[in-house]
Amino acid sequence: MAKKKKTIGIEAKQPKEDCGSGKCPWHGHTKIRGRVFIGKVVSSKAANTAIVQWDYYTLVPKYERYERRKTRIAAHNPKCISAKTGDMVRIGECRPLSKSKAFVIFEKVTE
Ligand SMILES: [Zn+2]
Repeated sequence: MAKKKKTIGIEAKQPKEDCGSGKCPWHGHTKIRGRVFIGKVVSSKAANTAIVQWDYYTLVPKYERYERRKTRIAAHNPKCISAKTGDMVRIGECRPLSKSKAFVIFEKVTE
């Protein structure tokens, strides 16, 4: 039987492996809705979790300078993607998957 092509509502590469996890956007029931970001994985120590971070600049009007800020988000890291520290990934907002996770990694960005 031919493998069904699944769509998650976002243009993205489907991972080759099947993880069978319910929290995976490709192989489970997690629906991505809300905001989508690209960031760098700075930690993947916790089980099925990755800390994704990205930097940005904001203007401080009083000093007319820019200050560097960062955003860190704990995202679900499905087994079929298994992003490691240093990987660029795309994450999408979803329902709360645990106490501190409401984002899921759905694609590795390869340059
Ligand atoms: Zn999966």
